[in-house]
Amino acid sequence: MSSEVIKSAVCEGCNPRCRVLVHSENGKLVKMREDKAHPRSATTWPPTQACPRFRAAEEFMYHKDRLNFPLKRAGEKGEGKWKKISWVQAFDEIADKLERLKGKYGAETLACHSGTLRTTEWVHPRFMNLFGSPNHVNPGNVCHAPCINTAVAMLGWPPTHRTFLRFERDASGKVTTGCLLLIGINPARSRPHMWKAIRDGKKQGVKLIVVDPRKTETTDLADIWLQLRPGTDTALLMSMINVIIENDLYHEDFVEHWCHGFPELRERSMAYPPEKISEITQVPTEKIKEAARLYALNTPTLTIESMGLEQQSNAIAGIQAKFILSALTGSYDIPGGEYIPGPAKCITEPEMELREELSPEQKKNQIGTDRFRLIGWPGRDAMLPHVIKTWGKPFSAQRASAPAHHPTLYRAILTGDPYPVRAMMGIASNPMVTQPNVKLIYKALKSLDLYVVQDYWMTPSAALADYVLPVTSWLERPYLGAGLGSHDSILGGEKALPSTIPGEYDRKTDYEILRGLGLRLGQERYWPWEDLEQVFDYMLSPLNLTFNEFMIAGGYESPPRQFRKYEKMGFGTPTGKVELFSTILEQLGYDPLPTYEEPHENPVSKPELAREYPLMLCTGGRISEFFHSEQRQIDSIRRMHPDPLVQIHPETANTLDIQEGNWVWIESPRGRIRQKATLFAGMDPKMVHCEHGWWFPELPEEEPWLHGVWESNINVLTDDDPDVCDKMGGGWPLKWGLCRVYRVKEY
Ligand code: SF4
Repeated sequence: MSSEVIKSAVCEGCNPRCRVLVHSENGKLVKMREDKAHPRSATTWPPTQACPRFRAAEEFMYHKDRLNFPLKRAGEKGEGKWKKISWVQAFDEIADKLERLKGKYGAETLACHSGTLRTTEWVHPRFMNLFGSPNHVNPGNVCHAPCINTAVAMLGWPPTHRTFLRFERDASGKVTTGCLLLIGINPARSRPHMWKAIRDGKKQGVKLIVVDPRKTETTDLADIWLQLRPGTDTALLMSMINVIIENDLYHEDFVEHWCHGFPELRERSMAYPPEKISEITQVPTEKIKEAARLYALNTPTLTIESMGLEQQSNAIAGIQAKFILSALTGSYDIPGGEYIPGPAKCITEPEMELREELSPEQKKNQIGTDRFRLIGWPGRDAMLPHVIKTWGKPFSAQRASAPAHHPTLYRAILTGDPYPVRAMMGIASNPMVTQPNVKLIYKALKSLDLYVVQDYWMTPSAALADYVLPVTSWLERPYLGAGLGSHDSILGGEKALPSTIPGEYDRKTDYEILRGLGLRLGQERYWPWEDLEQVFDYMLSPLNLTFNEFMIAGGYESPPRQFRKYEKMGFGTPTGKVELFSTILEQLGYDPLPTYEEPHENPVSKPELAREYPLMLCTGGRISEFFHSEQRQIDSIRRMHPDPLVQIHPETANTLDIQEGNWVWIESPRGRIRQKATLFAGMDPKMVHCEHGWWFPELPEEEPWLHGVWESNINVLTDDDPDVCDKMGGGWPLKWGLCRVYRVKEY
């Protein structure tokens, strides 16, 4: 008799959160398939079965290198010697060490570094807020945080997150969006579900404008491709604004009644005439004009930017310009335009974080956000009263809106300035691979008095830890999320497989780990629920449903869209309008309007350095098979993509005597790495595009190897000096920098 069990789970292998059906027998995975009946599957994705990470989930689950039991360092840091210990011993010892460090240096001495939403992330700030430390960092500054925080400053709530693109249709089934502007995003590689929607929309007549320095599958589909010089996006978008305003192509009624600061914007935009901006961006004048017209005359518009813009030091200004463009076409909260969802009805992730437990003094001590104020507690506290007055709930999770400043924090670990940071929790994050200036990260991690890592694998970062704790994968824990608190929809997924099999493995969720520590640190009353299912019962209580009942009812709640809500409630900003001139940025001491700034390190700003390092280095583009630094140990995926690749223009390669497949050194003023050359003519001959996230789990763990972290890791070359970061949001530049390339002769 078959004992097959089928659970409806949520894959967290990357951000879309696909719903899947997991078949198991006696606690062992036997089969997985897409949940085709689920409404989200039906409307938004291509076959989940096509996703290489989904197909490799069984390899992931039972991989010989998965962490199975708590480990304590048994040699020097990085020596690769570990002792297996019990969870009780791990909790007792770590809590005791945290208490001692807190007693000696204060609660702020503990930092927490989270990864890219691979675990239950609201639990991390909850623990940190209760401990009394504001020093939680994550990749937010170069992920969606610039977009979310700029959106809230200007609109009072972020428009629908761009992980999902759903074109509105009218009664006859026709797509109502007129024009889609994509900036620095190639959904064909990074967001296949969005790519499907874009191709469908295009067939329905949606105009497509793409801003990208590189030719991609997405630029191939565009009506207009604006191939700009890397790092000049803000100038280009401001020039489109100039054309729209100067030719009276904007939505007069929306601008007059629902926008604040149009006269100031008009004046600012006069500094960006297309003739002048063409020289800066290298986009022909006529093409800028043509794009602005196509955009303004095909409304409503949707404008989606991604890491191509967010990973620059002029990111916030560029994102301001993007939100202004949507305002000029009157596209907010109307069918086919930028939908502003508001919060979900459940208790949301930001409400679970207990931000109120952090005192104003503790927030003030957050490292780096006295300088980079938009993304951090100063910005969040400036925006929250207006948001809560309008929407009744906080926007987005602290993860996106209130992290400490990562590069400043790692400097504080090394210098003790402004105060000692001596302990860190690393949670499903691998800063030795994913964060800029790895040489500095390495020194900082090695210098800590206590470094505790929770992860699936022994990574180059975990190899430097004092304790390594095994976390559950998405298959071994339930899921409940409302888009980090930014969405009105709620998605649930069941725990599909056991997290403990005696003698084989004993893994815990973030919640169970941080609760285990919290109970030993006097936080009993804040951790009343024993596991995530009980937590989710609480989060769903406003809907009068238990988690089990929610899952039986389909595990998904998505209310029908309601448009033009602002006519009744205004926008959640200080003026109640869309702030073209941002009073929040003004209050934080920044320029309220967008201004273009030349990148800090390129042939224009550093001509002398460019003689030594003549090529422009760009990185961060998504690799279809991997999610950032993950999956390098999964054989089926490595067979598809075995080596790190650097794109070099054929003309440049010819000059440098480089052929397809040659290993080449890529060297910046900060170090050198090697990747394999692949020739690509779809970009400026002076540009090279390097892959990110590379380490080699097959190489030894102990130093000096650290799983090959120094070999091909782009972050050996990147810069994190606070002086080159975005001055409002603190993001570090990954889209430009100088380098030289030459063949590896001997290795
Ligand atoms: S890894 Fe694949 S299946 Fe999983 S969430 Fe991402 S796209 Fe969906």
